[in-house]
Amino acid sequence: MNATDISVFDLFSIGVGPSSSHTVGPMRAANRFVTELIDAGALERVAELSVDLYGSLAATGAGHGTMAATVKGLAGWEPESIDIAAAERQLAENQATGRLVLAGRPSPARGGGGEPATGPEVAVSEAAMTLRPLTVLERHTNGVRFRALDAGGAVLDERTYFSVGGGFVVEEGEEAADGDSLADVPHPYDSAEQLVSRASEAGISIARLKLENELTARSEREVEEGILAIYRVMRECIGSSLERIGYLPGELKVRCRAGQWHRDLLREDAGKSAEYAIDWVNLIALAVNEENAFGGRVVTAPTNGAAGILPAVLHYAMNYLPGIRTAGRPARERALVDFFLASAAVGALYKKRASISGAEVGCQGEVGSASSMAAAGLAQVMGGSSQQIENAAEIAMEHNLGLTCDPVGGLVQIPCIERNAMAAAKAVNAAKIALRGDGEHRVSLDQVIETMRQTGADMSARYKETSRGGLAVNVVEC
Ligand code: SF4
Repeated sequence: MNATDISVFDLFSIGVGPSSSHTVGPMRAANRFVTELIDAGALERVAELSVDLYGSLAATGAGHGTMAATVKGLAGWEPESIDIAAAERQLAENQATGRLVLAGRPSPARGGGGEPATGPEVAVSEAAMTLRPLTVLERHTNGVRFRALDAGGAVLDERTYFSVGGGFVVEEGEEAADGDSLADVPHPYDSAEQLVSRASEAGISIARLKLENELTARSEREVEEGILAIYRVMRECIGSSLERIGYLPGELKVRCRAGQWHRDLLREDAGKSAEYAIDWVNLIALAVNEENAFGGRVVTAPTNGAAGILPAVLHYAMNYLPGIRTAGRPARERALVDFFLASAAVGALYKKRASISGAEVGCQGEVGSASSMAAAGLAQVMGGSSQQIENAAEIAMEHNLGLTCDPVGGLVQIPCIERNAMAAAKAVNAAKIALRGDGEHRVSLDQVIETMRQTGADMSARYKETSRGGLAVNVVEC
């Protein structure tokens, strides 16, 4: 068995909306291509640059902001650190002129204000990209190919990347997705069965097992601080969303609801009664996903489209579980860290054994995986055994099997936003059901992950983020 693991910081990464696979991934891919040109000393010689988008990236790219994200990546922006306002200004200029200074993003390190530029100005823009929605490259449906030529027409570099879900990017010919994967971990696991048995043999919780694997790359303090930093970004995302009024971007004219719901709930539920718990769970899921739809800063969990589920269930844990709600700060932070770690342990299984990409296996891979991860996190902080945690994760996915990806208008709004609220509620219920039992159950998490993978493979391409089936064709855009 490979002694590697996928880090909690790969599964929960800071990005921008509206889609991890269609926005974050293409931005990373474009940035990687420009970085390759810089590293090869070829950037200055680029006179022409072409971008071809394939499969789902081309089919739903307009609604997902794929082309805009690609331009931003070519300008040198990265999802983790992008200055959203500055990048939008640069994009507006690019839309007006059709020209872009490669790696020319404004940077404080380079004096701010966009100068000095590090690359030549070339003709590249959203409008100039070639869209090939019916061509699915062999490795994955989310393909993007970059080609840079010099003034004489000679190819300086040509590379194809695949955005394989959750913002992970892999280059054609590469073995695995890039990211911060952990090597030589003390507790390797390739299946849920191994995860549970290794935790039991070591006499530790699933959260502790995941932490010990993380310690191969970071100190315990760094892991905890990193997770708390991610949590802060989640809270900022919610706060920003609650300030918004009006309509979400795009032709659907979907109204922002989170801000009004928040004001209503503050009035109706001043005492934070348990009766309103599910309303708050719904609100948090809605707020995160509305912010995502706006292209705001979001934590992939494990994807952007499903980013509201984990924060919503975490809100439930922190505010409604008696042992945590009234605990002091250290105990609350410990619970929060454990929630993320147990969720990540389960998320790694989906990434290793199936997929977290809606374009590959439908929404069951995004929202289903997130629901399963959140259920595991909640079961962990409810004091569940490893078997009960595995059971909670299994229940949540079992009842998300077959979920299709059919975003109306290619926008991550309908059904995505409400779907997060529904899946968060399922996750809470899955943890509660599992905690009522003793961990013994008939269907294993491994079986349900494999079922998800097979169902995704059998699913018509119409239901895999192409907007060619389901709600996307039955709901009229106006
Ligand atoms: S339907 Fe699901 S998988 Fe598809 S874009 Fe929406 S949240 Fe993502």
